[in-house]
Amino acid sequence: QDASPAHKRILLKLSGEALMGDDAFGINRATIVRMVEEVAEVVRLGVEVAVVIGGGNIFRGVAGGAVGMDRATADYMGMLATVMNSLALADAMNKQGLTARVMSAIAIDQVVEPYVRPKALQYLEEGKVVVFAAGTGNPFFTTDTAAALRGAEVGAELVLKATKVDGVYSADPKKDPSAQRYSSLSFDEAISQNLGIMDATAFALCRDQKLPIKVFSIFKAGALKRVVLGEDEGTLVHV
Ligand code: UDP
Repeated sequence: QDASPAHKRILLKLSGEALMGDDAFGINRATIVRMVEEVAEVVRLGVEVAVVIGGGNIFRGVAGGAVGMDRATADYMGMLATVMNSLALADAMNKQGLTARVMSAIAIDQVVEPYVRPKALQYLEEGKVVVFAAGTGNPFFTTDTAAALRGAEVGAELVLKATKVDGVYSADPKKDPSAQRYSSLSFDEAISQNLGIMDATAFALCRDQKLPIKVFSIFKAGALKRVVLGEDEGTLVHV
């Protein structure tokens, strides 16, 4: 018998890079399947799950291929990259027995339905996983900010920021063996120590809305479930 979840509704932020696995770019099938399995575990607990996925594995507006490009144009390309990732993620979810819906912040109606808040809320209440595509729909923002925004809009109790490391550490755990994982810290502590958990816009939005953030590893088996069960996993950033 599973313990009961500590959260009714969560917003999960996955970076585009998380889909790459050990590849240099793109979407690694085995990786996406493993990630979806982690998500399926918490859906089975009855938790309502909304997802925002980045696009860095396909396109990053401010770097690489975008050098010399108009920033806003490059950012729109980045947002379109998140639509591709969202389609791949929702497809993998549907194949693994979940029911996923993609909603886009940019009108692209032949491909995915537009983001309409009441509809997103309805899907979540029905136990469907909602994947929010195209970030905020605006250039000069990030998908971290989209995660904070959508998390606040749908009344998520927690934003889960999936990273490669299983939390926030006092130093780089790869370089410093004495590095300690913070179990929790306040927004103010994170800012004063310059921990760079999310970009400043996303961070400010979460702080203003008193929306806590949990930093955890999506690659650590069972970690997502432990977070949802309220166990000491990852790092909680609170008001
Ligand atoms: N982007 C944007 N507005 C948004 C979200 C994303 O312009 O609201 C663009 C931006 O160019 C960004 C790219 O999409 O570099 C991919 O998003 P992000 O870097 O957040 O993806 P991640 O790092 O999570 O893979």
